[in-house]
Amino acid sequence: MTESGLIWIEATFYPDSPFMIGGGFESQNLRESQTFIPGSVIRGALAALILEARGWLWPAGELPEAGSDPLADRFCRTFLDQRRAVRMTALFPVPQGSPRTKEEKEPGERWDRWIGFPMPLTARQCKANPEHGIFDTALPIPGHTGGIGCPRCRERVARARGWLAYAAPATEETPENAAVDRERHYRKVAPARRTVTRVGINRFTETAEKGMLYSLRVVDDRHVVYRGFWPASEAAWEELESLLNETGWPAVAGQNERGWAVKVGGNRARGFGRGILVLRRLPGADRPGLPGLMQRVQMGQQEQIFLLTLQSPLILGDMLLGRESESSIRRWWSQEIFAQAGLTPPPGWEWVPELSVLEWSTVSGWSQAWRLPKAVQPALAAGSVLAYRLAGTPSAAATAAAEATATAAEVGQQLTAFLAQVERNGLGLERLAGFGDVVVCHPFHWDANPGRARNQRPATATAKGGRSEVS
Ligand SMILES: [Zn+2]
Repeated sequence: MTESGLIWIEATFYPDSPFMIGGGFESQNLRESQTFIPGSVIRGALAALILEARGWLWPAGELPEAGSDPLADRFCRTFLDQRRAVRMTALFPVPQGSPRTKEEKEPGERWDRWIGFPMPLTARQCKANPEHGIFDTALPIPGHTGGIGCPRCRERVARARGWLAYAAPATEETPENAAVDRERHYRKVAPARRTVTRVGINRFTETAEKGMLYSLRVVDDRHVVYRGFWPASEAAWEELESLLNETGWPAVAGQNERGWAVKVGGNRARGFGRGILVLRRLPGADRPGLPGLMQRVQMGQQEQIFLLTLQSPLILGDMLLGRESESSIRRWWSQEIFAQAGLTPPPGWEWVPELSVLEWSTVSGWSQAWRLPKAVQPALAAGSVLAYRLAGTPSAAATAAAEATATAAEVGQQLTAFLAQVERNGLGLERLAGFGDVVVCHPFHWDANPGRARNQRPATATAKGGRSEVS
C-alpha cells in the first residue's frame, strides 16, 4: 500500500427515527440506548445492506465460500481483510449544520464542519459552578501545584463526561499557514433521549404477554447528526462504493447529499434506527477536521510529551495477562502494543505511566449476522490517555553542529511517519470494527488546559440537548 493511496472517508449518519443501541444502562425492564454509533454497529449496518441485496444475509442465506464468487471475495476484501479493508470507526454526535452560521460575523474566517469525540478522562468540570466550564488536566497546568481546583473559583472539580464537538477554522486545511494556538471552538453535545414503553409479544400466540411491559430510553434528537472519519486505501474505498452501487438499492438524498438508507441498533421492526448514511471521500492523508498531524506533533515536541487519546475502547485480549514485572509492563506499552499492530516506534519511544490516565471497561454487543450476543471483553475505555516521550529528544540534544540538526530532522520525520500510522491503523484487537481508534496530540488537551493557550476559552457546557452552548 503506497502512502499516496491513503485517504479518509467522512461518514455522517442522519437519523430519520429514534434509535436504540444497546450497551447503555440496563436494569430489569428498562434499557437505555447509547448516544453514539459504535464502529461495529455502522459496519454491521453497511454489511447487511450489501449482503441483503444478494440474499446472503443469514438466516435466509450465507456468504459463498472463498474463491467461488468474485463478488463475495470483493465483499471480504472490503470488510474483513486486515490489510485492505476500510476501518469503520465510531460516529460521534455533533450539532446539525455548520459551525459557520453562528461565527460568520468574523470577517475572513471560514468554518468547517463539527467533528465529535468522547470526553477524555482527563477533562474536569467545576462542581460548585458547572458554568465555569470544562478544562483538561492531561498536561501539567502552569502555576498549579497540589490538588487541582476549578481554575476560576478554586472549588472542587469532578470528571466531565459525555461528548464534545470541535470546529476548527477551515483555514487549517492548509496547515502550514495556520497558527497552532489560534482560538478553537468546542461544544458539549448531549443527544436527547425519551422513554417509550412497549408490550412484550409472545412469539407463539402473537398476543401481548401478561406482565411483560418494558421501557426503552431511545435517542431522539433532531438537532444532532453522527459523524466519524474512516481511514482507507483508495482501492478499498472504490471497492466499497461499487459494492454499494451494485446492491441496486437507490442511494437516497439526505441533506442535499447522496446517501444510503441504513438501519442501526435494535428494535428495528418497531421502526427504530432508520437513517441515511452519507459517505464523502476527503482529500489529504491526515486525519480530517483537526489541525494537521505535523502541527500536532510539533505541539507534542514543544511539551516533550506525546498524548495518544483513545476515541474508542482499546481491546487487548489476553496480551497483558501474566505480565507483572514493571519492566515487562513498560516494554509492552512502549513497544509491543505497536508491534502487535504492525508498527515500529522510533528509537527512544517510551511510555510515561505517571502521565497516562487509563480506565478499564468492557465491550460486548449483539451480532446481527449470528443472532447471538458477542463475547464480553475487557478493554481500555474510550477517553483514556496514553502518554509517551522520546528519550533524548532532539530539542534536548540539539547542538550547533549541523550533523546534530540533520539527525533531529530525521528523528522528527520518523516520529511523524510513525504517529501517522498510529492514527490510520489504530491499536489493539478488532480494529476493523472501529476499536482502538487513536488521536495523536488532540488539540483539546492544549486548548482546554487553563493558562496554556493564549486565546484559550475553556469549553463551557450548559443545558442539554444538541443545542448546548459553549462559552
Ligand atoms: Zn468554579
